[in-house]
Amino acid sequence: MKHSPLVQRLIEGFTVLPGVGPRSAQRMTYWLLERNREGGSRLALALEAAMQGVKHCARCRNFAEDDLCPVCSDPRRDQAQVCIVESPADVLAIEQSGEYRGRYFVLIGHLSPIDGIGPEEIGLNLLERQLSEVSELILATGTTVEGEATSHYIQEMVRGTSISVSRIAQGVPMGGDLEYVDGATLAQAMKSRRKL
Ligand SMILES: [Zn+2]
Repeated sequence: MKHSPLVQRLIEGFTVLPGVGPRSAQRMTYWLLERNREGGSRLALALEAAMQGVKHCARCRNFAEDDLCPVCSDPRRDQAQVCIVESPADVLAIEQSGEYRGRYFVLIGHLSPIDGIGPEEIGLNLLERQLSEVSELILATGTTVEGEATSHYIQEMVRGTSISVSRIAQGVPMGGDLEYVDGATLAQAMKSRRKL
């Protein structure tokens, strides 16, 4: 049996989500149509509003609904101390660990020449323009091969400047994503960062 056009379109819509194949997409579509049309409409509105309204912070590239994100516009945060992470989820993880008082720079990815992702694609030109205002960089990219390569690239970028550079490492599992590391481990990893 073929689905009607609107049903088919919704099923295909759900398959953009990570880990959602055609079968789960079909299940979700049927569930919404059969049992929760009101929830479905709320979801549609929230999706559209977020896709239009959530931008990237002009300073750190984290998600933001204004030009600057709440961390970059907070005068109580040390704007000269910058922690470099791969994703907005990493910012959330470090914020939840509750210890860090600096700001962030969010690469939204890592260097991956094979996929055509070079320094500009992860915002390093923007970071470079900010270096004169930075006194400390904390590299918190992932411990994957790409994360390490990205970390090395940034180290090279600031070589010869007076910026102090450190790398969080301890307690973060090899090949691990920061967002899956618990808050206490992450707080410890930040504290025991190793100077490069
Ligand atoms: Zn920001």
